[in-house]
Amino acid sequence: MIDAFLPWLLEELANAGSSLFDLSKRVSLVYLISALLFASSLFFYRYGKAGLSRLNVYFSWRIWTHASARTDYALWLLNRLLLAIMIPKTLAQSVWISWLFFFWQEQGLSSLAIGLPDILVIAFFTLCYFLADDFSRFFVHWCMHKNAFLWAFHQVHHSATVLTPFTVFRTHPIEGLLFFLRSLFVQSLVISVFLVLFPNQISLIQVFGILITTFFFNVLGANLRHSGVALSYGERIEKWLISPAQHQIHHSNAKCHYDRNFGVALAIWDRLFGSWHQGKDDQEIIFGTKQPIDKEGFLGQWLIPFKDISLLFIKALKKGASCVDPDLFAPKKKARKGE
Ligand SMILES: [Zn+2]
Ligand SMILES: [Zn+2]
Repeated sequence: MIDAFLPWLLEELANAGSSLFDLSKRVSLVYLISALLFASSLFFYRYGKAGLSRLNVYFSWRIWTHASARTDYALWLLNRLLLAIMIPKTLAQSVWISWLFFFWQEQGLSSLAIGLPDILVIAFFTLCYFLADDFSRFFVHWCMHKNAFLWAFHQVHHSATVLTPFTVFRTHPIEGLLFFLRSLFVQSLVISVFLVLFPNQISLIQVFGILITTFFFNVLGANLRHSGVALSYGERIEKWLISPAQHQIHHSNAKCHYDRNFGVALAIWDRLFGSWHQGKDDQEIIFGTKQPIDKEGFLGQWLIPFKDISLLFIKALKKGASCVDPDLFAPKKKARKGE
């Protein structure tokens, strides 16, 4: 058993380390550095030389070695190991795509197949994939704030009291599983529909289209969202794209910032749901939740959500409800006790 476990463990840890050199991973060194170049150009343009000091926090040793950041790193590695055991991702996606492909054919979708030039199919596919992916991320995130049971797990991400690019991986494994199911469902849905509607036109070029959008998202400062560098895209662009400053507002523990800016790339979903809040270069934000689970280390981050959920159920049972009391689904007032 140990003979098989040890090589597997070492390989998984080596894979985690190789993320720093892998362009398909958000924390690739290229993206960590490009985020800096992008922000420094904008700050220099807006404030001249003095603007560059706004990046100091990105280099702060105190932040990168803070107890909260150390919890980020631990959860990053441990969740990777746990999810690698739980989820055979590639297999699951190919099985699901094949099933949907035959399902759409049975429903007669192939009779709607249209012949379009390859270039239009690529553009249309990339657009649909991007919109479906971005909206579903927004919506699952929105649900995680509005439902007290889901919030119990999502609070792990929000408990970080300092932000580093690795905070993006600070999630509870149950949240990781939910987001995996989301991506499995949405990506397979879009790919299978396009396979039926545009037979023989789905190729590596389409996948390349998706990679290009991810590439630009990462190059243009995605890593700054989880950092102390407040970078706004400016009033006009912020209405369309979520800036680092906007996501930092999402992490704020100030009441006026609760449930703002759930979006990932596009800000339009937040505007539609009434949760949009503009970010500013000079905003001052205190990160975290007042339920102090940040101090509990990675094990606390894994276990406290289950304790909170048990308390929610006990509360529901005490009220004698045959089903869960709808009050329990009231967002932050209960979930973020004391804030
Ligand atoms: Zn959130
Ligand atoms: Zn975040």
